[in-house]
Amino acid sequence: MNIVIVGFGVAGATAAEAARQHNPEAYITIFSKENDLFYYRPRLLEVVSGQLVPDKVIAHPKSWYDERGIELRLGETLREINIQEKIVRGSTGSRQQYDRLLLAVGAESTRPFYFGDKLDGLYAVRSLNDAWSLNLYAKGKNRVVLIGSGLLGLELAMALAKQGLAVTVLERGDRILPRQTTPGSAELLRKKLAAFGLEFILKVEADRFEGVKKIEKVVLKNRQNLPADLVLLSAGITPNLSLATTLGLKIDKAIVVDQYLETSLPGIYAAGDCAQFLGVAGGLWTTSRAQGLVAGTNIAVTDPAARIQYSPVPPSTALKVAGIDLIATGDLDPEAKLRGVEVVTDSIYRKVVVDAEGCLVGFTNVGSTRGNRELSQVLSAKIKLPPETLTDLAKLDFDFARLA
Ligand SMILES: Cc1cc2nc3c(=O)[nH]c(=O)nc-3n(C[C@H](O)[C@H](O)[C@H](O)COP(=O)(O)OP(=O)(O)OC[C@H]3O[C@@H](n4cnc5c(N)ncnc54)[C@H](O)[C@@H]3O)c2cc1C
Repeated sequence: MNIVIVGFGVAGATAAEAARQHNPEAYITIFSKENDLFYYRPRLLEVVSGQLVPDKVIAHPKSWYDERGIELRLGETLREINIQEKIVRGSTGSRQQYDRLLLAVGAESTRPFYFGDKLDGLYAVRSLNDAWSLNLYAKGKNRVVLIGSGLLGLELAMALAKQGLAVTVLERGDRILPRQTTPGSAELLRKKLAAFGLEFILKVEADRFEGVKKIEKVVLKNRQNLPADLVLLSAGITPNLSLATTLGLKIDKAIVVDQYLETSLPGIYAAGDCAQFLGVAGGLWTTSRAQGLVAGTNIAVTDPAARIQYSPVPPSTALKVAGIDLIATGDLDPEAKLRGVEVVTDSIYRKVVVDAEGCLVGFTNVGSTRGNRELSQVLSAKIKLPPETLTDLAKLDFDFARLA
């Protein structure tokens, strides 16, 4: 059997390993646009901050893949898939026959258009190459303007602050980290990050960049000017959908897959940031790895009955910023449409949210990790909580044995 995997991120690499475990005979080839061996993408933050050199984030040496009979075509973008002949073609013109195909092509940083975006000093971090280039460019610079206060944006802001740069974060919404916070937790988080020297400007949008050859300032839509030596874009991710579009696969926000992670074309699977299961598109490392495992198994087994199903876990976010614990799991109901209870102190914020049946559907904890594990278990177990428990559940000293 010929297995072709497109993309060598965590989804593609995990799938290759799983495929080998389930099929010792299969011929497995990975096409990768990037030149580097599979690396830990979340650790790029440490490359940006200068704590790690690029070699240190690589997962396995080339020999690891050789020993497992996994052929790597690095620096070779897959350009064409001929589903009639079951042949793929890479950017160097090489051809490869396939029986099963996995699209694990991930996503790219979203790059909105700005006047001045051809000037030097504009960065977005997705690849190892991006992270290392940014680290080198930032040396000796003073001021960064970061556009977007999402999770990755805040982590990049801290990575650059660690290098001694003054970072101003622009957010067009009315609170930072809008997808993972409630107004209460965002405010506490903002205060904690400000203590590290980060400055935030809310409800603003960048209009253009100005400078001679390189960026020297950012002009906002409200005409305010911010001096800047470099600009970092963190405006979300866009799944890589060009191959799927050419194939005519069913696409919504990303490539739509079923419980086996098979796309609308039999024999072609998708996993990771490029895939969408039950309406949810990727964006997380753990999800991509879990999907890589399922898709890698399913493309390798010969008996369709041996295929395994993917069951998602509620998305959980843990912020890695030094000294700040933040977990945001499930539905935090920032608009207060469900029933939720908040506990706020000077340094801690916790919110728990239940649905109409009284089951925990989301929680967040800022400034403390206490109860995270137990709350995650209550959420996954879908336990119906007695109404009188809800208020107590948000308290830091809640005795979870009461739910046993
Ligand atoms: C700096 C950073 C920090 C992060 N931190 C976290 C974190 O703390 N927690 C978390 O859960 N998530 C985090 N993420 C997100 C997480 O890394 C991604 O969800 C995950 O890496 C997605 O894996 P993937 O394999 O689906 O796609 P990717 O990692 O994007 O890999 C896809 C690969 O396919 C290649 N490719 C695309 N098209 C082609 C083609 N036509 N031919 C050949 N190759 C192609 C791409 O170049 C890429 O190498 C972070 C992301 C970044 C950038």
